[in-house]
Amino acid sequence: MANWEDWIRRTEPYVPGEQPRGDRLIKLNTNENPYPPAPGVQKALERMRAEDFRKYPDPEASALKAALAGRYRLTPEQIFVGVGSDDVLAMAFLTFFNSSRPVLFPDITYSFYPVWAGLFRIPYETAPLDEQFCLRPEDYRRENGGIVFPNPNAPTGLCLPLEAVEDILRHNRDVVVIVDEAYIDFGGESAVCLLDRYENLLVVQTFSKSRSMAGLRIGFAMGSPKLIRALENVKFAYNSYTLNLPSLVLGTEAVKDEAYFQETTGRIVRTREKTAGRLRQLGFQFPDSRANFLFITHEKADAARLYEALKEARIYVRYFPSGRLAPYLRMTIGTDEEMEQVLAFLEDYLRRN
Ligand code: PMP
Repeated sequence: MANWEDWIRRTEPYVPGEQPRGDRLIKLNTNENPYPPAPGVQKALERMRAEDFRKYPDPEASALKAALAGRYRLTPEQIFVGVGSDDVLAMAFLTFFNSSRPVLFPDITYSFYPVWAGLFRIPYETAPLDEQFCLRPEDYRRENGGIVFPNPNAPTGLCLPLEAVEDILRHNRDVVVIVDEAYIDFGGESAVCLLDRYENLLVVQTFSKSRSMAGLRIGFAMGSPKLIRALENVKFAYNSYTLNLPSLVLGTEAVKDEAYFQETTGRIVRTREKTAGRLRQLGFQFPDSRANFLFITHEKADAARLYEALKEARIYVRYFPSGRLAPYLRMTIGTDEEMEQVLAFLEDYLRRN
């Protein structure tokens, strides 16, 4: 091996869900939204011209921040934006988890957390979820260098009540606590209302799920002006122009249409509850989801085999083949029609197997 190879930063990458191409498939493997973005996004896209791309975009993302500040009743100084919440979370890890004490997160959670910790050499410890996959706030009372957890959690969909989130904050005033709310708009209670009381709280959200814009890559964080300033400093030490012009323009447009947001998220919640009822009748079990997916298991159906059979039928779901997750499949909630087709397949599969 040549010498230069010794100095390469070696790191374990995150593996995203597959993005199969082609028509006539039901794609329920990466928690995308089955509905298009708000109609104003299409109109704004049609108004864009290639000529607009000649210049750099606004490095401060002022219009998008102003729109988000209005929507969440905050000031623009309390908003940070990035290239999907993955970018925002990576920046937050880099900015706030800079202590020799271990950062804490659940053992079953978004599998990108240990990857960032590895990349940035951040020490961490995991706290096991209980038998029912619930996060126990009392596990977060030991010495630590920061805390991060998704609420609702992934891939279970379980949501902590606000009192439990506040319990964690109350016991951790000297470190930054990041609540990753990628799925909060499907029925969970956001921690945004705790921002006035906890200067060390960072709430991270995304346009990828509830605003149907995974392909544009827009994420944001809300926190005290001090936290946001620290994030901005790291961002401007790394890449001034993170969000491109279409993301800034179309993201701003999406935030303006509150009625469409309420209608489509409401529709997904109703489809989730209807699907949950039918799955229960078929003998599936799953935690109570407040997200746009269900984490399902069946005593009589091996998850790996069912995953393959679904794929054969052009239905894509997510399978995590190790440990406690191995008996489960994570299925995104699609349209009513898509879920009908999936349920018909499952009914037939269980009869045959
Ligand atoms: N947090 C959680 C818990 C997620 O499941 C995801 C989706 N993979 C993300 C953050 C990142 O989403 P995005 O980068 O598309 O905003």
